[in-house]
Amino acid sequence: MPRIDIIVPVFNEQEVLVLFYQRLKQVMEDSEVDWSLLFVNDGSTDQTQESIENLHTADGRVGYISLSRNFGKEYALTAGIDHAKGDALVVIDVDLQDPPELIPDMIAHWQSGYDVVYATRKERHGESFAKKATASLFYRLINMMSRIEIPKDTGDYRLLSKKAYTAVRELRESNRFMKGLFAWVGYSQKQILFDREPRAAGNSKWNFSTLWRFALDGITSFSYLPLRFATWIGSIVAVFAFIYGLVIIAKTLIFGSDVPGYPSLMVVVLFIGGVQLTALGIIGEYLGRMFQENKRRPLYLVDEYQPPE
Ligand code: UDP
Ligand code: MG
Repeated sequence: MPRIDIIVPVFNEQEVLVLFYQRLKQVMEDSEVDWSLLFVNDGSTDQTQESIENLHTADGRVGYISLSRNFGKEYALTAGIDHAKGDALVVIDVDLQDPPELIPDMIAHWQSGYDVVYATRKERHGESFAKKATASLFYRLINMMSRIEIPKDTGDYRLLSKKAYTAVRELRESNRFMKGLFAWVGYSQKQILFDREPRAAGNSKWNFSTLWRFALDGITSFSYLPLRFATWIGSIVAVFAFIYGLVIIAKTLIFGSDVPGYPSLMVVVLFIGGVQLTALGIIGEYLGRMFQENKRRPLYLVDEYQPPE
């Protein structure tokens, strides 16, 4: 029987952890595979670790990796993928927004030859209009800007064959946008559709500022377009500024100098200043990330590892 590793990053999820385990167990016991569950505790400060340890004691198929602090979901996922041993792995959120019932479908597609099976949301229930709108804008934007096709409205929920997850392991960049990395490796990919349910319990760990950072990480690690954009805008403005300068010189030569030039001067100075700061900001976003990459720090640190049996 093939073995499937189920990788679940968790951060302060005591309300939903056991619920998730029960529903997953139900689904997996009906399917004809060997399976194991690997929780990655991403520095939780509530009772999450205790719950995981209880599950581990009660059911040998449950293992865990406990990270030394909260590194963020992308790093927790990386830790899980690094420790996988199965013929395929499934990445899933613990909050039951990704229904475990899709896993048998994913496995069936994998057995028919696909290396990556990803689940795309048809509907997202229980999320605010603002979150849905910004998410949809983000996916459209990043696909316009990047040469890698990143599936729209698709989270991390997916199955990766051993071939695919071994390839993902090779990507050690420290600015990690996992959805992009999953797409980057290529191989034969299959999409399946589902309706996303609201969270079963607990709260979303994201807020506007973490999502903004996440979006910038995604865009900067998959596209140079913003840098080129800065160049284009800079050159266009420079051309206009040059023409305007010529006009002013000509006017002064023909009509003499008229003192009241303050408004136009202010407009030009402020406009060019704004453009320069924007361009610098864009360069800064990339430079900061290069700085971080250069340090080559480990992506995460493991405090404790208990493999599933
Ligand atoms: N998560 C994590 N580390 C974090 C934030 C989240 O491991 O720093 C996990 C979280 O426990 C959950 C998954 O990532 O299993 C998705 O998080 P959440 O439901 O908060 O995200 P949303 O569905 O709102 O995008
Ligand atoms: Mg969620």
